[in-house]
Formats: sequence, C-alpha cells, structure tokens
Amino acid sequence: MIVAERKAFDQIWNSVKDLKSVLILGCGTCVAVCQAGGEKEVGLLASELRIKSRIEGKEMKIGEATIERQCDKEFFDSIRDRAKGYEAVLSMACGAGVQYSAEMLEPILCLPALNTRFIGVTEQEGSWAERCRACGNCVLADYGGICPMTICAKSLVNGPCGGSKNGKCEAGEEKDCAWVLIYNRLKKQNRLDTFLKPVANRVKDYSKQTHPGRYTNEAYLKPEMEVKSAK
Ligand code: SF4
Ligand code: SF4
Repeated sequence: MIVAERKAFDQIWNSVKDLKSVLILGCGTCVAVCQAGGEKEVGLLASELRIKSRIEGKEMKIGEATIERQCDKEFFDSIRDRAKGYEAVLSMACGAGVQYSAEMLEPILCLPALNTRFIGVTEQEGSWAERCRACGNCVLADYGGICPMTICAKSLVNGPCGGSKNGKCEAGEEKDCAWVLIYNRLKKQNRLDTFLKPVANRVKDYSKQTHPGRYTNEAYLKPEMEVKSAK
C-alpha cells in the first residue's frame, strides 16, 4: 500500500487560513489503513481546524467527506456537487489522490494535507516500512524476495558495498545490510547458486523508469487498437 503521514498542523493551517470554506476529503483505502487520511483522521483534522479558526476569530465553513479512493474516477460522483459549495478541498489522500482530485473537481482548489512517503507494508501496529520503489522491472526472483532497490541504502543490485560490517549497513547501525539479508534468505532457500549467475542476467533494466509511468491492461487496449486500425 501507499504509506503517507499527515503534514504538521501549522503547515495545514497556513494553507487554508485565508479561505472561507474548506471540504476535508478523506480517502478510504491506503491512507486509511496507515491512519493518515481515512474517515477518522478527517474528523480529527476537522475538529482541530474548527478550534483553531475559533481561536483566531476566523469564520470558516469546514465540511467532512471520505470517498473510497481518490485515485479512481467513479468515486468522485458522490461528492462533486457537494464540493462545489466550498472554496477548496483539503485532500487527505496520497499525492496521486490529491492530483486526481484537482483534475476531477476542477476548477476547485485542491490542497494536500498529507506527505506521501512510500509503497510499504505494516510491520506492526502503527508502524510501516518501505518495500518497493515501483521500478517497473521486478527482480525479486533473483534476490530471495528482498528488494535491493529499496532495502539497500545505495540500491545496489550487485552488492554488498565496502560499508557492510557485521551484517549492518554503513548508512545506520540500526539498519541491516540488504545484501546480508539477501544472502541469508538465499542460503535458507538453498539457492546460493543464484549469485553465480552471469552478472548480465542480474543487471537492472532501468528503461521502464520513465515518468510519468503509464500502464494499460492488454485486455482493455485491444478493442481500442482494433478501432484505430479499422479507421
Ligand atoms: S525490484 Fe522493483 S518492482 Fe520489485 S520490489 Fe524492488 S522496486 Fe519494487
Ligand atoms: S552496507 Fe549493505 S545495505 Fe548498506 S549500502 Fe552497502 S550494500 Fe547497501
């Protein structure tokens, strides 16, 4: 999932303090799971903003809504009309959700309330860790299911580097060296011979790392191609 964290309240307040009305818009998927931008967090932020606006003597209409996903067109139908009654939407989605909200609700001003951190996993309650950089060419099969792009501080695909010491990374003593983790995983799997593969097989193909990325499922692409070729 995409992991995000809420911006500092002062930063959020500064972005909305001159507005007369704001609709706080939560997202019910990734950011709800990581407790940054779901329905509950929308309610908390709304309360904080109401208190702050009263303290500052400002009149501000603050609305609350949460849609299932801000990265999916269909979910905007339920709030489009309501959003028109506000000067701005304060989106509690990831960066993709904020951008899509701005596009779907144009010309309403859309402001971000979160900082998007990474694609990751829930390691324990209230704690998330990065696992993938969406490189577009997954090499996990050769690395025991441990991503060298993400877990290694230098994203080395042919590690370890000289900074690896006693299983720890030179980037920080609390951090395990990714390459020791990869070695240990492959050893447990009885697959250490993977390291003997010609380097060319393990060279990372960065050609898919162009931005903005775009992907269309083949099943949806074919009819379009047929239509185009029939013209
Ligand atoms: S190799 Fe690429 S796609 Fe696979 S986990 Fe790492 S960053 Fe993600
Ligand atoms: S010590 Fe290990 S994890 Fe750290 S940068 Fe070097 S190879 Fe990567």
